[in-house]
Amino acid sequence: MSASTPFRNTETPLGPGATLGMLGAGQLGRMFALAAARLGYHVHVFSPRVDSPTGHVSHRETVADYGDTAALLKFAQSVDVVTLEFENIPVAAIETIEQFAPVRPSRAMLHVTQNRLREKHFLTEAGIACAPFAEVNSLEQLRLAITTIGLPAVLKTADSGYDGKGQITIRDPNDAVTAWKHVGGQPAVLEGWVDYVQELSVLVARSTNGEIVTCGPIANDHVNHILDVSRFPAPELAHIAPTAEQIGRTIVQRLKFIGLCCVEFFLARDGQLIVNEIAPRPHNSGHLTIEACHTSQFEQQVRAVCGLPLGCMQPHTPAAMVNLLGDLWQNGEPPWLKLLSVPQGFLHLYGKTEAQPGRKMGHFTVLADDAHLAARIAIDARERLRQ
Ligand code: AMP
Repeated sequence: MSASTPFRNTETPLGPGATLGMLGAGQLGRMFALAAARLGYHVHVFSPRVDSPTGHVSHRETVADYGDTAALLKFAQSVDVVTLEFENIPVAAIETIEQFAPVRPSRAMLHVTQNRLREKHFLTEAGIACAPFAEVNSLEQLRLAITTIGLPAVLKTADSGYDGKGQITIRDPNDAVTAWKHVGGQPAVLEGWVDYVQELSVLVARSTNGEIVTCGPIANDHVNHILDVSRFPAPELAHIAPTAEQIGRTIVQRLKFIGLCCVEFFLARDGQLIVNEIAPRPHNSGHLTIEACHTSQFEQQVRAVCGLPLGCMQPHTPAAMVNLLGDLWQNGEPPWLKLLSVPQGFLHLYGKTEAQPGRKMGHFTVLADDAHLAARIAIDARERLRQ
């Protein structure tokens, strides 16, 4: 390393043996670290969490706050490239790391996806349909937005929302006060309700040389705003696959995104494809790619941020995934043997010790002759855990 080039030439692929920095230490980082290790990389994880899903399986771990500049600098000097599994990393932390190591995806990309309002403006400018929306910074603005957007509508905090957290559905104008309290009076977005027939997602990888590979559409069903079941391939969505993939390509090209991201869509009743949100990292709906596709979303993230050729994400076998939430632990540790005895079933547990309702503790993927059948087998098997 010379003083004028603090990190390696960004065009040079980082081969196995390099150390990959990971910001965030949840299950997405864990599955990234496992994929990276298989390819012969080392992972150094940085997060404030002790005893974390990613820390358990990483080569090296730094437990420190994202505001701890000294720890960030030390971390940045120990890695060849940095990626993330959680988009709400403070921008200042990324600026600090960038002094020594490239961060992929970039700060500019995160700036857009960290905030729902900026994301919606970006989509609108790119000519990509999203739900009608209005900026809300006060109760008066919320009341006004209800009249322009109409009801039902969903009020979502502009920053830091996921899995239905920081959002509330408004069905009656009289609910404005309660809704405004629910989001803590924070800057928010009021989104028109989308009458959809199916939710779906497309994974999009873009490498350092601009190569793009897409995977999808994956059909997703949610319960209580949390992903419940994903199916892939979804033949009933084949007619909108080219459009969904093109939207994914447009997004990563415009943002000069490097890494793997997920574009979540609603397929509206009138046939329109509407982008719900962009996750600048692997996504829960892509977990089934581990067993169903030639290259998983996690290996693809490794390849993209290292500048390696991207892998093929075509499915070789239809699959479905069900989430295993903390609710399953109501009567203690679930009887895992019931899942482990399912042929072509793959149990993933994230090593989390505290099982709270709604918390993602693991997932279960099933391969079968078609994805609907795989979903039925997976759902039935999960049901047996409760008996
Ligand atoms: P989000 O955190 O924005 O992805 O929302 C979580 C889930 O809530 C989505 O996957 C949908 O199931 C539901 N949802 C969110 N926004 C809307 C909307 N505008 N119209 C209908 N359903 C929505």
